[in-house]
Amino acid sequence: MATTLRLILGDQLNARHSWFRQTDDSVIYLIAELRQETDYTHHHVQKICAFFASMEAFATALDKAGHRVHHLTLDDTADFADLPALINALCKQHGCQQFEYQRPDEYRLLQQLREFRLPKGCRRLEYDTEHFLLPFEDIDQEFTPGKLRMMEHFYRRMRKRFLILMDGDQPRGGRWNFDQDNRNKLSGAQLADVPAPLTFANPVGAIIERLQRHGVDHFGRATKSLLWPVTRKQAQSLLEFFCTHLLPNFGRYQDAMIGATTGDDTSWSLYHSRLSFAINVKMLHPMQVIDAALAAFERSEGQIDLAQIEGFVRQILGWREFVRGVYWANMPDYAQRNALSAERALPAYFWTGETGMQCLRQAIGQSLNYAYAHHIQRLMVTGNFCLLAGVDPDEVDQWYLGIYVDALEWVEMPNTRGMSQYADGGLVGTKAYAAGGNYMQKMSNYCGQCQYKVSAKTGENSCPLNSLYWHFMDRHRQTFNRNPRLGMIYRSWDKMAEDKQQAILARGQWCLDNINSL
Ligand code: FAD
Ligand code: SF4
Repeated sequence: MATTLRLILGDQLNARHSWFRQTDDSVIYLIAELRQETDYTHHHVQKICAFFASMEAFATALDKAGHRVHHLTLDDTADFADLPALINALCKQHGCQQFEYQRPDEYRLLQQLREFRLPKGCRRLEYDTEHFLLPFEDIDQEFTPGKLRMMEHFYRRMRKRFLILMDGDQPRGGRWNFDQDNRNKLSGAQLADVPAPLTFANPVGAIIERLQRHGVDHFGRATKSLLWPVTRKQAQSLLEFFCTHLLPNFGRYQDAMIGATTGDDTSWSLYHSRLSFAINVKMLHPMQVIDAALAAFERSEGQIDLAQIEGFVRQILGWREFVRGVYWANMPDYAQRNALSAERALPAYFWTGETGMQCLRQAIGQSLNYAYAHHIQRLMVTGNFCLLAGVDPDEVDQWYLGIYVDALEWVEMPNTRGMSQYADGGLVGTKAYAAGGNYMQKMSNYCGQCQYKVSAKTGENSCPLNSLYWHFMDRHRQTFNRNPRLGMIYRSWDKMAEDKQQAILARGQWCLDNINSL
């Protein structure tokens, strides 16, 4: 019987894929732990565990459903140099006449799978992942390489295309965007009302032992019991939990940040869904997530208001699909972009959290603890600091790619190199997301616990972000001067007395020269 080898990558755990509609003994499914995947960047241990545990659970589920599955661990694949070497060996061993794969979401893997040489007589066939809402073939119509596309316009077209939150051809409630209503701060007292996050206790001790046995390099807090969902059932429970307990306040506190206190277990995730890992590995389909949230909204009879549901839909239907489009339209050049010529090394405290800057200490500390930070922590705390300090976007990308449980290059890179670092010169957003201590003071309670004074711009106790902000704006004046969204900032800088400007710039320079000791 002619045999087909079908590859399932670690982020292709889509039980609803048409591949699995019927069983076929002539098809072998391959799910493999590989050193090329543990080693392409320096990963958080919880990220590797979440991927490996989910792959194992998926293999078990396929096996139970009657499919022929080869689930290989690092012990089985250690002798193979890379994925092509493994595929070739298996094709020869089983006399495969066909090798099939789903189109990878990552450029690196797509090139590898399209280009390696198969054994003679073995054909290669590429399938769609059947996951994204915008068909891969339509990316070219929506995005042009090297050209800015406005996410807001893209999002509106997606709302119309999928008839989501629409009244005829008008947006429900008369507005497309409720962002202005979604900027609330959370106080320490309000933290008590935030529901404790639903977490899981998946045993991953055997995986951690395997990583040790094979000398796989990793960092972050290792826990033998993993809190991330690793099965479709767990992912669905997390989705239900979100719709019931968190969606009613999702948009309202989307941008809020709050420092951890001893014993509190809610401050790290607040009203965020923590669904990104489950969606990115395709245990959940984005439309399934949107449908569940819309159903909860309709059921709630006003308890969940329009601003909350619109805020959530925009993330999945808008941002997630948008960054994927930017990635594919602009790769491989995108990975080389460094529009602001940033070259500084990433400070060592990004790997330890050991810094006097409370905002960074909290955001990095929780990232090391949970392999998770919510969007505003990624954008406005760690990302903002790297932007202001001019850290090399290659190093920033590698850090984000390694530390977060949901990090895959197609979504990590446009968010980091693009939205956060402006290294793409403005393909994701029209302005740099730069901020001083004021922003942190407005959206978090970090500053109250900090050794630095958020109200001061100069002096040795002044908040480093304040002077770094003006140093950044000053050294990139040529780039941002004529940006309509930033012009006002230069006008207020120009009104400042020159000696004050010089003192701020001197403090900013001192912070850059002593960046590792801040
Ligand atoms: P929620 O706040 O609950 O949002 C709901 C869902 O919307 C998310 O699960 C996600 O699927 C989607 N979403 C929200 N914002 C974005 C966005 N900007 N881009 C794409 N999808 C979005 N997201 C990743 O999935 N992987 C990454 O590697 C990643 N790296 C990032 C790096 C930086 C510098 C920044 C600023 C953002 C990054 N994001 C990334 C986007 C976003 O921060 C995460 O998707 C989100 O924090 C995941 O947590 P959540 O599931 O609780 O999200
Ligand atoms: Fe961060 Fe400055 Fe606030 Fe300290 S004072 S937490 S460094 S913004």
